[in-house]
Amino acid sequence: MAARILDGKSLAAQVRAAVKKEVAALSQRGIRPGLAVVLAGDNPASRVYVRNKVRASEETGVRSELYELPASISEEALLDRVLALNDDPEIHGILVQLPLPRHVNTYRVLETVSPAKDIDGFHAANLGALVAGVPHMVPCTPAGVMRLLQHARVPLAGAHAVVIGRSNIVGKPLALLLLQQDATVTICHSKTRDLENVARSADILVAAVGRAKLVTGAMVKPGACVIDVGVNRLNDGSIVGDVDFASASEVAGWITPVPGGVGPMTIALLLENCVRAARASK
Ligand code: NAP
Repeated sequence: MAARILDGKSLAAQVRAAVKKEVAALSQRGIRPGLAVVLAGDNPASRVYVRNKVRASEETGVRSELYELPASISEEALLDRVLALNDDPEIHGILVQLPLPRHVNTYRVLETVSPAKDIDGFHAANLGALVAGVPHMVPCTPAGVMRLLQHARVPLAGAHAVVIGRSNIVGKPLALLLLQQDATVTICHSKTRDLENVARSADILVAAVGRAKLVTGAMVKPGACVIDVGVNRLNDGSIVGDVDFASASEVAGWITPVPGGVGPMTIALLLENCVRAARASK
């Protein structure tokens, strides 16, 4: 039986519509949510992501400011920009687009963003709150994955969730969110032995790796829920995920497409976090 599609595009549109309503409600209280996007350097993929985020924010009525900084910017100048945004009362959310130029200490920059304006949820204070089980600003991609799972009523309590990838922005926070919902969680990475067998034991299988079609149908337990976080550009310019959709969708019970799965949810949840930060600011 072919898998049910977890349609991130349509769920993200619903989330953005709710954000738009909230923006209108906040404007009655004299609050206009403001988002600052900091882009340092000229990474083409980052430019596309930033453009999409700015466009989506404008559609929902969130005011956005884009700071395009040269790749040669010094770490101190970048930190000064972030500090100025921390102090700007019209800015409620600050997004520093990654990756930053090599000479810049990414951790130092992310730690400089005020935790209250850290709508990406990357500050150690927000990651710590997540570890403690009292999440505040949750990283947008993991939050988007959880929203997709909950919307489709995929059973989480007691399920075995296997997360492939252990980055601070996707794999680790997502594993914590799944654990919070009482899943039994296994985190895999590049040194994991026998990935195929571990993956095949998953009721929920998440691929957040960055390797095109790493997960095949042979690695999926029949009926499992497969979440594909990966975004990989092939030589012909097409975008594919970390999952071989054709073979995996023959075996899985649910599956996210790429594009149209996790990606749109990330942006929608970012705007939701920004509006929440604006609401909390007064
Ligand atoms: P990352 O920081 O590069 O982390 C990749 C993880 O995959 C690492 O933990 C790495 O293991 C693991 N890995 C690499 N090769 C592996 C293999 N052969 N078998 C098992 N594990 C392996 O990447 P990321 O930032 O988490 O992003 C992951 C993917 O998601 C990328 O394609 C990215 O573009 C995409 N992404 C999408 C969205 C969205 O909105 N859709 C948002 C963020 C990221 P080690 O730790 O051992 O190196």
